[in-house]
Amino acid sequence: MKPLSETKAIFMLDEIRSGFRDEVQRDYEHRAKPCSTCQTPGACCLDAHFVNVRITKLEAVAIRNELEKLSEKLKTKVDSRIAKLQNEPYVERYSCPLFENGIGCLVHDTAKPLPCIAHACYERREDLPPDELLETREAEIDKLNRRVYGKTTFLPIPIAISRSLTVREG
Ligand code: SF4
Ligand code: SF4
Repeated sequence: MKPLSETKAIFMLDEIRSGFRDEVQRDYEHRAKPCSTCQTPGACCLDAHFVNVRITKLEAVAIRNELEKLSEKLKTKVDSRIAKLQNEPYVERYSCPLFENGIGCLVHDTAKPLPCIAHACYERREDLPPDELLETREAEIDKLNRRVYGKTTFLPIPIAISRSLTVREG
């Protein structure tokens, strides 16, 4: 497999994410409840019994790059939420550290994981984006990770971000 630089791969990841978001918005999201009318905004991101999103190292690095652009105050808050989750022996489900009250998902427009893009509150199961749509895009991201790092590991968001930071500092 042809090697790829991390910088170029992050650019390609962004294209994959944009294509997926456009497809979901165009073909599926209009059938879901609009988040603007939600009585419990953020419930889907903060429910520690619900969120189980796993991301790759490349996605974690892309998220970390975006977090670096936040104000010091906000960055410290996010880092502290991530650090708290490090104390869990194995984070199966978690309250996402990237959700900020009053703002929402801090990487909504820039580095949102694919399962989060696919997620919405649909009344009818048949209206949901099909699993294959997500799987196809995730396979593309898997390939990018293999080209950059030689392997792919899917980890919970806080663990993946934390490890990407450790690797960069080390
Ligand atoms: S996905 Fe559902 S729970 Fe989450 S903000 Fe939108 S409407 Fe609310
Ligand atoms: S990454 Fe964003 S959309 Fe996904 S669970 Fe976290 S805050 Fe919610």
